[in-house]
Parts: sequence; C-alpha cells; structure tokens
Amino acid sequence: MTVSASSTRLYREATANVEDAATAIDMDQKVRRVLLRPMNELIVNFPIERDDGEHVVLQGYRIQHNNVLGPFKGGMRFHQGMDLNESRALATWMTFKCALLNLPFGGAKGGVSIDPKRFSHAELERVVRRFTHALGENIGPEFDIPAPDMGTDAQTMGWMMDTYLNSRGPGERQNARRVVTGKPVELGGSLGREAATGRGAAYALRHLYGQLDRSLRHQSAAIQGFGNVGSHAAEALAELNMDVVAVADKSGAVYHPEGLDVAALMHHASRHRTIAGFTECDTISSEEFFALDVDVLVPAALESQITTDNVGSIRARTIVEAANGPVTNEASDLLEQAGVNVIPDILANAGGVVVSYYEWVQNKTSSRWTAHDIDSRLRDAIWDASDRVGAVRKVQGCSWRRAAYIEAATLLQKVYRLRGIFP
Ligand code: NAD
Repeated sequence: MTVSASSTRLYREATANVEDAATAIDMDQKVRRVLLRPMNELIVNFPIERDDGEHVVLQGYRIQHNNVLGPFKGGMRFHQGMDLNESRALATWMTFKCALLNLPFGGAKGGVSIDPKRFSHAELERVVRRFTHALGENIGPEFDIPAPDMGTDAQTMGWMMDTYLNSRGPGERQNARRVVTGKPVELGGSLGREAATGRGAAYALRHLYGQLDRSLRHQSAAIQGFGNVGSHAAEALAELNMDVVAVADKSGAVYHPEGLDVAALMHHASRHRTIAGFTECDTISSEEFFALDVDVLVPAALESQITTDNVGSIRARTIVEAANGPVTNEASDLLEQAGVNVIPDILANAGGVVVSYYEWVQNKTSSRWTAHDIDSRLRDAIWDASDRVGAVRKVQGCSWRRAAYIEAATLLQKVYRLRGIFP
C-alpha cells in the first residue's frame, strides 16, 4: 500500500496550509511551486526474518521535502497507517516547523508501515537495521537526520545509529553519531530530549495564558495519547498545578474530576505500556472524552481526531496540538470562529525538533549541556516563536495556524530570494 484515502486527505491538508500562507504573503510563484512538492521521495521494500523463520517484505518511506534552510530533519514513524502521502504531509509540516523555530534544518519524514506492537523486540531490531541499510546514503549527519516519532523511540535511534556507523570507515564513526537524534543519552543523546515535545507544548500553553493574563493553576486539562508526547505533556501540565482530569490512549480513556495522579499513571503506563487497568478513576468513551468540559484539550496521539464530524461537541476553551495534524483545517477554523484558541502543531510540538537540534550541536562540538540549560533554551525558543506568531496574528487578524504558517513562509521566501533558484 503506498497511499490511502485518509493519508491523501492529510496531504491535502498540508498542501492547503502551504497554499494559504503563500497566498497571504503573495509568495513568488516559483517558490510556491517548489514548496508544494517534496524534493525527494524514497520507497524501499526490504525483507526481514520473523522469529518463526518466515521472511516478510516490508515497505518503508523517506520523504525529503525541502532543505533550503539546512539538512533534512524529521521523525521515523512505525505505524500500520504509514504510507507515502502520510510521509509527504508530515515532511511538509516539518519544513515549516523548522522554519518557524529558526532552526538550520529542512523537513523530512519517513517510517515503516507496520504495527510495532505485533513485532518482538528482536524482530523490531531487525526491522530497524534492515530499513536503515536500505536507506543507505539517503540519510547522513549533514544530509538527512531521522528522530523518533510514533511507534519508535530512543532504542530505535540507537539501532539506526549503530547500523549507519557500521557502514562507515573507522575514522568517520565518532563524527557520524549525529546521523540521528533522540538517541539514548549513553549513546550521545541529549538530556531533556525525551520530554522535550511534551514540555514544549506546555511552554506554548504558558505563553498563551501569559498573553491572556490568566493563571494555569487548577485549570483542567484532557490529554489524548499517553506515549512519549502525551505523558510528558501531562507531567509538565501537572508541574504547572493544572488538573489533568482525563487521559486517553488506544485502549480507552480514564477520568477523575479532581485530577488524575499523573505520576502514578506514568508509572502504570511504563509498566503495562497502556493506561488500561489504572484504578482510582472512571473510564469514559472516546466521545465522552472529546466532549469534556475542560479548559485545555491536548490531542497528543494521531492526526485528524477533531474533524467537522465531532467539532460541535468540543467544549474546551484552548486546544494544544501536541500531535501532528490532530485538528483538521476546517474544524480548526470553526473552533477559532467560536473563540477557541488552537495552538497549531508546528508551534505546539516543535519542542522535539528544537532539542534534537541541541543534540546535533552537542554531538558536532563534542560537548554536553546541562538539563537546566537545555530546558531554559527550549522555553526561550518556544516563547520567541510564540511572540512572533502572536505579532503576525495581530497584524493579519487571522488564526494562530495561519499566523504560524505566514511567519515560516516569510523566512522560506526570503531565503529563496537571496539564494535564487538554480540554475
Ligand atoms: P507514541 O507512539 O509514543 O504514543 C502514541 C500514543 O497515542 C499512545 O499512547 C497510543 O496508545 C495513543 N493512540 C494511538 N492510537 C490512538 C487512538 N486511536 N486513540 C487514542 N489514542 C491513541 O507517539 P508519540 O511520539 O507520543 O507521538 C504522538 C504524536 O506526536 C504524533 O502525531 C507524532 O507525530 C507527534 N510528535 C511526536 C514527537 C516526538 O518527539 N516523539 C515530536 C513532534 C510530534
């Protein structure tokens, strides 16, 4: 399978974001055309051996959308819905995310079309190593730098790095560790990278509340997704004394009107890989979860979770898009018209790529920054981008999403004007 109806819709959403910003800034036609198409598209079919000795052929992708600002950068997703159009959409968003955060990176995305929960640890290692081998010279520390995404983690990046390094000559190996970011700290990963996306989402929310002159204390929050992003977002919101009243994952949703014990839920989820079975709370349906009367809703799982089908039931006053594309453009416009602030994904979940950049710089300079240093730089980066998006929003009188894309598109256009388009 190389495309599905849902991934085709997702890619249409991403190109609509680009079109919308391009129109708003009257972008040069030639730049617009370049930004509407990924630069390179790679599909690899590779065999792996299952534990029972059978061989299966899997399909993997890497879409390199744009590298005018620097090396391609973006996650590797292992999910059964992963395909060419999903990769194209996510890679396009990465270009704009890196531009918005002023990072010297371009945009890419890729992954393998599998449900990782159906593979053993040993099988997953073989998948990662064989996929990395198939990608060959199409990734590299100054060319295209993968990171974790849905269904992948620090261990995945460790295997990817090791496979890549083993294809290099001995003299090149140490210097090539930055071919991936989001590695285990012991392998050259950065302190703070694992929690960075969730913490970045919390910083974006803090910035918004600061602008509104409101306190987050005892504001209620519901979080969809309790993997890397959702669990660390929950932890960061609890640190801000917010009441995380509901959490949902693939298995269902849990609810406590006075606030869940986030530390206990994290402990439970790390042992069982799910929130199912957590006690001292009620269980609610997915429909009830989205219709909760909460101050803040944080979708941190999948794309297209809030659409025109269920947007009418949303009662949250603020939405923080910690996942990529969780609210469709149409639903987002309806929410903004109804006075709901929707902090867009390219700002709300940019913390991950920001700290990935810090990891890359630390590897490049053989240095190690402290956790405190990284967290305060992350906060400043998110707040700086939030300030710039807020200023554009004020001038244009538009949504947060459009303002974020305009800010990113303005930089991309400027760079193309200065460089010109070859030849
Ligand atoms: P993950 O695999 O660690 O966790 C995914 C979570 O979503 C799990 O709790 C899973 O149970 C839940 N989930 C899956 N299907 C669901 C469903 N149908 N209903 C409810 N919950 C469901 O993934 P992650 O790394 O936390 O990524 C989540 C999102 O954040 C993705 O959109 C990803 O692209 C985005 N993102 C991740 C990073 C990162 O650093 N990991 C950075 C930027 C953006």
